[in-house]
Amino acid sequence: MSVLPWLQPHWHHLCDYSSQNRVPQALLISGNKGLGKLQLATQYAASLLCANPQPSGLACAHCNSCLLFKAQTHPDFIQLQPEEPVKTITIGQIRQLISRLTLKPQFDKYRVIIIHPAELMNKAAANAFLKYLEEPTERTVVILITHKPTRLLPTIVSRCQKLIINQPDISIINSWLKQHTEQHDVNLLLNLAQGSPLLALHYAKEDTLSLRKDCFEAWINISNQRNHPVIVAENWFKLTAPSLLTWLTTWVIDLIRCHYPTSSTVLYNPDFKDRLQRLTEKIDLKDLYELYDLVLMRQKLLDTSINKQSLFEEILITWADLNLKTQK
Ligand SMILES: [Zn+2]
Repeated sequence: MSVLPWLQPHWHHLCDYSSQNRVPQALLISGNKGLGKLQLATQYAASLLCANPQPSGLACAHCNSCLLFKAQTHPDFIQLQPEEPVKTITIGQIRQLISRLTLKPQFDKYRVIIIHPAELMNKAAANAFLKYLEEPTERTVVILITHKPTRLLPTIVSRCQKLIINQPDISIINSWLKQHTEQHDVNLLLNLAQGSPLLALHYAKEDTLSLRKDCFEAWINISNQRNHPVIVAENWFKLTAPSLLTWLTTWVIDLIRCHYPTSSTVLYNPDFKDRLQRLTEKIDLKDLYELYDLVLMRQKLLDTSINKQSLFEEILITWADLNLKTQK
C-alpha cells in the first residue's frame, strides 16, 4: 500500500529520521480524525522493522520481518489500544507493556510500539507511561497517535518529537477521492465527512448518501405527521449508523441558518436546501435553538452506555411536538 498523497511530506520527514539514524524514541502524531494517522504510523513501523526497505522508504513486504508483521505476529511490534471500544487504556496495560520493554528486541533492528488513541490513557496509565519515557529502552520507538493532543499530559507531549498532520489541501483530497470512487458528488461526501478523506471514501463505498437521504425523508415526514417519531426512532436504532446523530445535528443547524436568509452561509446539506428552507419558515427560531441544545447534549452521551433508541425517541418526539405547535 502506498502512502496517502497528503501524507507524503510527512512520510519523507519520517524517512529522513531513519536515513540519518536519528529515529526518535517517542513520536507524537496528531491531527484531525480520518486523515490516516494510524496508517502512516503502521507504515513507518513496518519500515523500521523491515530488513530491506524500498528506495521509497516503505517496507519490502517480503523479508522475514515483513511477513511476521503482516501476520501480526512480529515480536518487536506492539499496538496498544483500549481493550474494549469506548474504554480507556489502563495502567495494567501500560505496566504489561513496560515489563515487555525491559527485554531486548528480538531482532537486531528497532522495536516499535503504537499507542492509539493515546489520549485514552487514563491518568494512572499516563503517569506510568511518563516514567517509562524518562528512561526509555534502547532501539525502541513509541508512536503515540491522537486527535486530541491537549488531553495528553504536557510532560508526555514535551518528551515526544511531534508530527502534526494539518488538514490537507482540498484539491489533493478531491482528486484522490475521484480516483477511488464511482460517486461523483465528492464535495458532498467530503462535507458530510467533515473534511476527512478516509471517512468520505467509506461513505462512498457504503452508499451512505442514499441512507442519509432516506433518514432525512423520515425526519421530514415526522414534521408533517406522516411518520411517528417512536417508529422512526426504532428504525434508526436498528440502522446503527454511527453518524446519524451528527447528520441530524447538521439538519438542525441548517434549519437555523436558513432562518437568516440574508446571510450567505454555506449549508452542511446543500442538496436539501429547498426543503429545509420551506420547513424553517413554519418553525419558531427559539424552538429550533432548544432542539439544537438538546441534540448537542445527547450527542455527548453517545459514547456512554445510554439506550440509543430512547435517545432518538426523545429527540424525535421533541421534533414532532415542535412542528405540531407551529401548526396550531
Ligand atoms: Zn521487509
